[in-house]
Amino acid sequence: MTQIALITGANKGIGYATARLLGELGMTVLLGARDETRGVAATKELSGAGLDARFVALDVTDAASVTAAADLVTAEFGRLDILVNNAGILRVDGPAGAPSATTLPTLREVFETNVYGVVTVTNAFLPLLRQAPAARIVNVSSEVGSISSLTDPASPLFALTSVPYPASKAALNMITAMYAKELRDTPIKVNAANPGYTATDFNSHHGFRTPEQAARVCAHLATLPADGPSGLLWGHLITIEG
Ligand code: NDP
Repeated sequence: MTQIALITGANKGIGYATARLLGELGMTVLLGARDETRGVAATKELSGAGLDARFVALDVTDAASVTAAADLVTAEFGRLDILVNNAGILRVDGPAGAPSATTLPTLREVFETNVYGVVTVTNAFLPLLRQAPAARIVNVSSEVGSISSLTDPASPLFALTSVPYPASKAALNMITAMYAKELRDTPIKVNAANPGYTATDFNSHHGFRTPEQAARVCAHLATLPADGPSGLLWGHLITIEG
């Protein structure tokens, strides 16, 4: 049975690379993107490479868009094997993004996508994930969501001062753990991926890892065996949330 995988924010960066990797594993990949032109272009690239790729209009901050995407997957496939919650944004107030300079609109904007978007999408697709024999949910998070890493003076992440993005990923790590706990008696596994600092538009391509390397972290968690873990932050350099 061909596995069906949905990746949010799949028109570029880590999401696109993850869609490509899962497609190369023989899955049908649904590329979620909020912009139709960008989403269709990315889908055509993967189709052109011989992969079974489909575009799905999906803005994770728009409840109607999420519902429509879930309805489409229900009608077309009746189940979902893999959900990769990848869509994410970074916003900083002021030059250093100090907590004292952080504004609520910025904090809300980041949480809308990185936190509330994940919950909206996950809850909309859970009925479909429950229809799969052994579904996997991968929340693309970050080590910057680790409170211990950001507050340890010996950590390279200690220099980070901005609030919205790290706080959103800390919330996402907790949300991941709580979904894993709720679903512990089901075959569904829920984990958070730490892809490492990756060269994408997100950081003006300053990252030192490639999107393909980052995608391998997501693909690993998306294809965990039945005895694999659930509720972890896993990936580049960090294996378990401290
Ligand atoms: P990019 O900026 O390259 O890609 C982000 C993707 O998310 C784009 O496709 C973007 O779409 C999409 N997106 C943003 N908002 C929405 C929305 N409301 N609905 C649907 N899609 C949306 O970033 P990366 O590939 O680097 O980041 C992907 C994930 O990886 C993020 O969650 C990020 O936090 C995480 N991450 C990244 C790291 C890095 O070093 N790059 C490190 C650790 C984690 P559009 O093109 O329309 O803007």
